[in-house]
Amino acid sequence: MTGDKWVYRFGGGSADGNTGMKNLLGGKGANLAEMARLGLPVPPGFTLTTAVCTAYYDRGETYPDGLEKEVNEALAAVEKETGKVFGDNDNPLLVSVRSGARASMPGMMDTVLNLGLSDVTVEGLAKKAGERFAYDSYRRFIQMYCNVVLGMKHDIFEHILDDYKERFEYNLDTELSADDWKEIISQYKAAIRKQLGKPFPDDPHEQLWGAVGAVFGSWMNDRAKLYRKLNDIPAEWGTAVNVQSMVFGNMGETSATGVAFTRDPSTGEKVFYGEFLINAQGEDVVAGIRTPAPISRSRADAISSDEAPLEEAMPKVYNELVEVANTLESHYRDMQDIEFTVEDNKLYMLQTRSGKRTAAAALKIAVDMAQEGLINEEEAVLRLMPGQLDQLLHPTISADAKRDVIVKGLPASPGAAVGKVVFSSDEAAERAEKGEDVILMRVETSPEDIHGMHAARAIVTSRGGMTSHAAVVARGMGRPCVCGAGGLHIDAEKGVFRSGGREFKKGDIVTIDGAEGEVLSGEVDMVNPDLSGDFGKLMEWADRARTLKVRTNAETPHDVETAISFGAEGVGLCRTEHMFFESERIPVVRSMILANDKKGREAALSKLLPMQRGDFAEIFRLMGERPCTIRLLDPPLHEFLPHSEDEMAEVAKSAGVDIEVLKRQANELHENNPMLGHRGCRLGITYPEIYEMQARAIFEAAVQIAKDTGYSPIPEVMIPLVGTRKELDILKEKVDATAQAVFKETGTELEYLVGTMIELPRAALQAGQIAETADFFSFGTNDLTQTTLGISRDDAARFLKDYEDQGIYEKDPFVTLDQDGVGELVRIAAERGRKTKTGIKLGICGEHGGDPASVAFCHRLGLNYVSCSPYRVPIARLAAAHAALQKADA
Ligand code: PEP
Ligand code: MG
Repeated sequence: MTGDKWVYRFGGGSADGNTGMKNLLGGKGANLAEMARLGLPVPPGFTLTTAVCTAYYDRGETYPDGLEKEVNEALAAVEKETGKVFGDNDNPLLVSVRSGARASMPGMMDTVLNLGLSDVTVEGLAKKAGERFAYDSYRRFIQMYCNVVLGMKHDIFEHILDDYKERFEYNLDTELSADDWKEIISQYKAAIRKQLGKPFPDDPHEQLWGAVGAVFGSWMNDRAKLYRKLNDIPAEWGTAVNVQSMVFGNMGETSATGVAFTRDPSTGEKVFYGEFLINAQGEDVVAGIRTPAPISRSRADAISSDEAPLEEAMPKVYNELVEVANTLESHYRDMQDIEFTVEDNKLYMLQTRSGKRTAAAALKIAVDMAQEGLINEEEAVLRLMPGQLDQLLHPTISADAKRDVIVKGLPASPGAAVGKVVFSSDEAAERAEKGEDVILMRVETSPEDIHGMHAARAIVTSRGGMTSHAAVVARGMGRPCVCGAGGLHIDAEKGVFRSGGREFKKGDIVTIDGAEGEVLSGEVDMVNPDLSGDFGKLMEWADRARTLKVRTNAETPHDVETAISFGAEGVGLCRTEHMFFESERIPVVRSMILANDKKGREAALSKLLPMQRGDFAEIFRLMGERPCTIRLLDPPLHEFLPHSEDEMAEVAKSAGVDIEVLKRQANELHENNPMLGHRGCRLGITYPEIYEMQARAIFEAAVQIAKDTGYSPIPEVMIPLVGTRKELDILKEKVDATAQAVFKETGTELEYLVGTMIELPRAALQAGQIAETADFFSFGTNDLTQTTLGISRDDAARFLKDYEDQGIYEKDPFVTLDQDGVGELVRIAAERGRKTKTGIKLGICGEHGGDPASVAFCHRLGLNYVSCSPYRVPIARLAAAHAALQKADA
């Protein structure tokens, strides 16, 4: 290629590039250019572009034509700007060489400092900065260069230095004189010659090309490749190389180096925050060998250092730095993370970039900046990542708490909780009743554990994935949950659990970190969420931006109230079966299941009717005029029956049936593959009286609320697991007949909808036909993922990690919608459904409804709403706003 420009200069108040050129110059190079343009004190230098990297690999690891000439010209410009000469023995120019990709990439070669030093130029540096300083710098350079560029191990040099210090009885490096360093350097060089079979390169140009080659080489090292894979960074992006004239923070007491944030990255407070070290070079601040001092006086208590803050030690430099920080923040309109060096009381800027921050800081900074007029409200909304909100909505483990991790599992539901370990749901409920905080630990949970899960502060399971029963229910209840902790061996009989050779007893105190998926020993300090003004304000701005509605999956009054307080605009899924498990209902449900005939079932159902009516009335009352989708019974009936021998005996006794009869009936209901068995609408087909009772309860409750309050709920009756239009036709007819009967009896007529879940591939493909009958579709993407991928949602945890590790599924498909497969079915169903019935209401109620990437997908498909567990409602609101704003941007 001709006409390409491979090298971009910066420094002296101008630059060839700017911050918009991150793809070409890498993040570091683009921002150095921008700072130079702003007239900030940037040591002059130049950037070899990412296009050089790509060309280098395209051409079989050789440089493109013209590159060398451009580098030499840029070097000459730096020489001119600094008044120093590369390789000169009087006034040598020394440079740093750093990698700098588009995205920050740990795992790549980072830095070589003091490049350009040789037996000749070291004399020049000695004249300017003192002999000891010069030779110390030289030996550091040799070490760094040999390690980073020539691939030699550090210990070779460390041994030489240690032996030398021992021989002459030195304790500290600072005790060594220039002559000592000279001797050590000659020993280093001998070792290099011995190991590499050639001398250390004394020619600065050779050194420079060696370092440039090492940066480009490191783009393809294993660590960088792995990092790219994990972070979706394509290899074609390439890295840039920044060559910059050296400034020295280690030239004595008038020199220093430091890092700073323009606002506090952990709280977001508008204070200038940072650390520095007098007489030190770059990496020393982060290396943790010496404790850095604070930059501002106001922050002095936060850092344990006896040294004076920069504000006092170098007041002039401090003021200049504050001014630069302000310039950068208002220029970039974001909190900046900056690196600087002071050489002999003169300030130099080495880097600026948007600073990483906690969720709390992101929220505060976004709202503050919008109020300061630095950004607008929409930009503020985009500054807080929806996934980060989890950190804000639940108590969390305090950042500096000590963590003794017993076992790690999946981070199934965020938040932290402390309590005593129990192994049964009954015991959890009993102890909670007495006011104890308990953590329920089970191999896995089933609907029978609902009361125990509700009573517990957190739930831990050793089996099950992100959409296992424990995970779904815990998220719904806002309980922290760690599931699928395979290293956990629970022996409930003995009342112990074991992990990694340790044993804990029932009643021992543990702390659960649901966000990390960890079980910690003992009580660990926590911090409570602060949902004060800023949160409300940002969510209000988000609501203004989004088009997608957000509903909740909830059935208890408590969950419905929580969801409303988090901004839910309706119920998208009320799983009626959850209501069947309450202690006074389960015996009635069981007697219905155990009844031999329709009459017996109807007798039991008539007892359930007033209970369900009460439940629905409460939901309608709380939700006011917001829409409510109520799903008719879904799980296979055996889920309601007892399993253990003890429970069987108890149930048989209270139901007044022989235990053998109970066992036989339970056995008859047993299915080899219950998730594909007698469940969902198939129950309604076989036992229409169950669905009729539920429909009656819904309509009676709606009529009652209409009479009591004067506003009319519009119930949305939802039929699960439909695969054919015929199923829906049959069941809708029954629902309609029940509605008409209730309206006639009560003299009140209401609007209502009857719709279906789309959770089988056949339903998605037949959506055009199904839409003839359905008023709405709700995508049950938990089951749709299970049935499309043929992966059991309850057993996936055992092998999905291997699939993720090998990149087969990049993300757990039960957490983030598999857009290519399951998403394609959703798209097809939406299209076909709309073709039959324009304006058919479309929503999603699988767990994906609270996952930001999946919410964005739903926005793009133009669905009407997403529905998720109460604690995810704010996440979905923000994700929907991001999706709308990003679309508007594109
Ligand atoms: C689904 O399958 O996505 C769904 C919401 O239903 P459930 O999780 O109750 O099976
Ligand atoms: Mg389902």
